[in-house]
Amino acid sequence: MTDPADLADRVLAGELRLYELDEHADAETAAAARRHLVEAETGVDLDAVADYTFDADAVDANVENLVGGAQIPMGVAGPVPVDGGAADGEYYLPMATTEGALVASVNRGLSAIRAAGGATARVTDSGMTRAPVFRVEGIAEAERVVEWVRDNEESLREAAESTTSHGELTAVDPYVVGDSVFLRFVYDTKDAMGMNMATIATREASELVEEETPASLVALSGNLCSDKKPAAINAIEGRGRSVTADVVLPREYVEEMLKTTPEAMVEGNTRKNLIGSAKAASLGFNAHAANTVAAVFLATGQDPAQVVEGANAITTMEVREREDERSESSSDVSGEQTRPANRGDSEGDLYASLSFASLEVGTVGGGTKLPTQSEALDVLGHAGGGEPAGANADALAELIAVGALAGELSLVAAFTSRHLASAHEELGR
Ligand code: NAP
Repeated sequence: MTDPADLADRVLAGELRLYELDEHADAETAAAARRHLVEAETGVDLDAVADYTFDADAVDANVENLVGGAQIPMGVAGPVPVDGGAADGEYYLPMATTEGALVASVNRGLSAIRAAGGATARVTDSGMTRAPVFRVEGIAEAERVVEWVRDNEESLREAAESTTSHGELTAVDPYVVGDSVFLRFVYDTKDAMGMNMATIATREASELVEEETPASLVALSGNLCSDKKPAAINAIEGRGRSVTADVVLPREYVEEMLKTTPEAMVEGNTRKNLIGSAKAASLGFNAHAANTVAAVFLATGQDPAQVVEGANAITTMEVREREDERSESSSDVSGEQTRPANRGDSEGDLYASLSFASLEVGTVGGGTKLPTQSEALDVLGHAGGGEPAGANADALAELIAVGALAGELSLVAAFTSRHLASAHEELGR
């Protein structure tokens, strides 16, 4: 077996480059050689980094210049009953985080949701996007290119779908700025998050655009996609899964478990999540949805940089009169309405919802096959390809939405009952 220290010496002597080590040794030995080198160069002991459980030979699609693994503590919240379009049953939610109090916060929200019988969740839209930018002569030529694209969606679909057995091209939306033409390709990527799939398919379709029109491709991603950057287009048009979770929490559970009232929750949500976010010109009108997104992304092998888009979420809360009270109070003897539904001064329950515009998730591809990540997906019961294809990624999106809704309930309650600082003091410090 090749000695990692000898390999490290050859890199230090300039005979080999770091990334060439895999050509001279198996992946594990190459990683050991890089650790030797980094340890020699920096004086840092990498024993903990060397203590990983994945197969070094199986992660070449996930990382280059492997040295080992980074570990993040994983907790679990739940169980919670979920009535979803794809998720259906009782679930424990795996969360990887270093933020003390986060899992406890989501767990508290899930307990309240569980007491209320569970949450409902639905994926309302699905589509991964890639938007290449083309150069044209000017606006007259741009118009001709857009016209060709509109007339030839079927040919574009054939070209794009020739590269994938799962992906389906569902739309091509043109945008023109001066002599730049952007084509925002939208794909149903089934159980894959789909960014590689969509990029490869779009490259094929872009070649057709170049063959058939005067447009010249400048960049396969023209940033109107828009990947890993805060962008209103994702918040408005959606990207990945658009998904909503909601729940009606009976007043007694809000009072007993969240230590506040539905009215105080509604006021807190309105002033903080809606008015405060509007004043800040935020794209996210929520308390901390990105916290749950990030923790479940890390636990289940999603692309963590896409937490950017995962923060595009709106939390709503309102007081809802109970059905029995509503029927008693909704009309007087003349049959006229005397008390509108949703009035804030009744002994009503709390309706809460959280809607993600652009949650980019997959249960195949990317980091989902790594050992701890695929175990976490197994805990959810939605690892790998779904039946039908796309169902598992839909379920994952719904479960993240329910977890994040629980986090919203818990944090807004903590603010309105002023428990936040003490919770962090007890759990996080
Ligand atoms: P991928 O690992 O590149 O590919 C997943 C493949 O799994 C699909 O293309 C599909 O093959 C196959 N597959 C098997 N069963 C499937 C099912 N039930 N549903 C859907 N596909 C199924 O994953 P990806 O989701 O396309 O891309 C995710 C990766 O892209 C992540 O590692 C992420 O970090 C990275 N990324 C790339 C870019 C970029 O610009 N390229 C940007 C951001 C992130 P077929 O296509 O042959 O059907």
